[in-house]
Amino acid sequence: MSRKNIAAGNWKMNTTIEEGIDLAQLIAGAERSKEVITILGVPFTHIYPLQKKIKVSSKVLLAAQNCHHKTSGAYTGEISPTMLAAMKVPYVIIGHSERREYNHEDNALLAAKLRAALDAGLKVIFCCGEALDIRKAGSHVSHVKNQLVESLFQLDAKEMKNIVIAYEPIWAIGTGETASPAQAQEMHAAIRSMLQIKYGKRVAENTSILYGGSVKGNNAKELFSQPDVDGGLVGGASLNGAEFVQIINSF
Ligand code: PEP
Repeated sequence: MSRKNIAAGNWKMNTTIEEGIDLAQLIAGAERSKEVITILGVPFTHIYPLQKKIKVSSKVLLAAQNCHHKTSGAYTGEISPTMLAAMKVPYVIIGHSERREYNHEDNALLAAKLRAALDAGLKVIFCCGEALDIRKAGSHVSHVKNQLVESLFQLDAKEMKNIVIAYEPIWAIGTGETASPAQAQEMHAAIRSMLQIKYGKRVAENTSILYGGSVKGNNAKELFSQPDVDGGLVGGASLNGAEFVQIINSF
């Protein structure tokens, strides 16, 4: 996967199946001004109905919001990457800050999830990002570096073609506070340089890095125009079809 424009929605624990179908149909049917990979991160329950109801094509792809790190076993309530791959779900989101916080997912567990997801044949949107106190202390770049080193950088260069990175400062998620375009660009450039040091120029230039954190219809254009911002991972605004289409058309 080379570097592409990507608009990814993260519906989190929102919408009934019927509401999700309506939303996905609106997004799938919308005109696009440019080639943009559109990904909808939907609840597990919605995957099969959406596959049946919307034309899952290069216009709209689905992502699961999480998966377990084992293929199968006595893990009540969990979904394995093998199950997702068998359903032909192309993407899974791993490492979202809400899962890091509420489900205590640490870098070691996320490394295991990455391994399992790639072994099953899934592509991964891997999230990283710092909390407000870390940003205030000025250690945001080293914090994100540590997240990448302890999870993502176990992968080899060839596997990186199946990875999209989402930089999501926690202080900007669901708060209405967005990182400024300059703040986003600073971190995205830093991540690309970490990729270059670890994997070389080709991987660094071909890896899509998304920004996430209160992306809206009215700020997406400026964020996406930054040289190292290849798109967005969008929570709240992805639940509004018209606004998400506006975001898709902000490249
Ligand atoms: C997210 O959930 O990944 C996210 C960035 O949420 P929001 O756009 O609502 O800040």
